Amino acid sequence: MLKILIAGAGPAGARLARHLASAGHAVVLADQISSPATNAFSSAALSQSEAEVLRIPRQCWSSVWSGWQVIDPRGLEYQWWATDSLGVVLDFAQFRALLWQEAERSGVELLKGCRVQLKRLRSEGADVWIHQRHGHRQERRVDLLVDATGSRRALLRQAGIPVDSSRDPLLTGHGVEWILQADPKSSARWRDRLSFLLGSRWIRHGYGWVFPMDGYRLKVGVCRLPPPSSKASDLSGLQRDLQRLLICFDLNRCPVLDRHGGVVSSTVRRLENLGGGSLIAIGDAASTANLLGGEGIRYAIKSADLLASLLQDQQGSAKSWQKLRRSYRHTLHSELGRRWGWSGRLAQRTWFGLKSERADLRMSRLIEGLSKRADAADLSSLFFDYRFERYGLRLLPYVF
Ligand SMILES: Cc1cc2nc3c(=O)[nH]c(=O)nc-3n(C[C@H](O)[C@H](O)[C@H](O)COP(=O)(O)OP(=O)(O)OC[C@H]3O[C@@H](n4cnc5c(N)ncnc54)[C@H](O)[C@@H]3O)c2cc1C
Repeated sequence: MLKILIAGAGPAGARLARHLASAGHAVVLADQISSPATNAFSSAALSQSEAEVLRIPRQCWSSVWSGWQVIDPRGLEYQWWATDSLGVVLDFAQFRALLWQEAERSGVELLKGCRVQLKRLRSEGADVWIHQRHGHRQERRVDLLVDATGSRRALLRQAGIPVDSSRDPLLTGHGVEWILQADPKSSARWRDRLSFLLGSRWIRHGYGWVFPMDGYRLKVGVCRLPPPSSKASDLSGLQRDLQRLLICFDLNRCPVLDRHGGVVSSTVRRLENLGGGSLIAIGDAASTANLLGGEGIRYAIKSADLLASLLQDQQGSAKSWQKLRRSYRHTLHSELGRRWGWSGRLAQRTWFGLKSERADLRMSRLIEGLSKRADAADLSSLFFDYRFERYGLRLLPYVF
């Protein structure tokens, strides 16, 4: 039985904790937030097949959707509809709550409102500080430490493990989202579909979205992935962009139920080390997120499932952690595949460049092309499975 501490109880950390506790390990799962509803930042849209493969319980599905809607830089609206459901939008707070409950039921010691800080990393174990509220802290010694702190990569950074390099820099997208209480009339234009606003007229270096939830609620958000040299990522600017969209689409009178935001970040080539000594990273901390659609729940969960299966039969020696990291890295790359890598390049090309009339024109042509050549299921396979080559003539120049 290993003593394992997982820092971060998002989808990756909570899922891994449950697996490892069920396998008989002594698992501590700590998160700095004290309630699953605190900053429930994720829009949490998933494809139907992924929601089923990952066995995400229906009680977390806030809505199902069967269409795509894109509003192009000129304000033209395009729609693609399927007869069956194409995906779900999760209630992220409820999803996190369920993951926490499942972890506790499997025997995980869940520490809420506790920030983890690395004290000492050794090849065969680690010492950490667990900071509680009111300045209290306790020390723990563990065999394996997992960084599941998302885009913060808190423990990797504290251990001095580079999270990127000049060959493969970390790209960062900032997003803000509000949950609005709409009514049958004001939500009609947005129900049953995922809607995206594309073009620098709406958001420079990014995009806006409106996703439906149950009870006529809407998630409305904006996200920006500017080139590193740009100053376009300040949060107050994003809030202003969001308010502008609400006015444009007549949603500014809807009561705001929640305001939240977060960061999605990843390297594109994913060359970085996924840990060192007895530390290993999963989820967004391991650059699993897809920057094209700001989407990462399924990859975070997959990385947790993968690490859990590789951890079976580990002895906990320095040599075995190193070997484990090597096979984890290798399997992660081969399971998520080449297309997962392509999407990062496509994201960089698309969002960095979306800042001028020329870029808007290219985007409008791309959307028009898709409206002629693709149906709703094709769009899902394009955005969730990265089947770019079917639209090669227009899309591949973005990728390469
Ligand atoms: C605005 C926005 C919209 C998104 N929309 C979608 C979407 O529609 N679909 C989708 O699939 N993905 C989406 N994502 C991405 C998705 O939410 C993430 O990829 C996913 O949450 C990653 O899971 P994770 O467990 O790796 O990290 P996180 O969910 O980020 O969890 C990390 C946890 O670590 C905790 N933590 C951080 N530092 C410490 C510390 N030192 N000690 C203890 N705890 C710590 C944090 O409080 C947090 O709870 C979106 C992201 C953003 C920002």
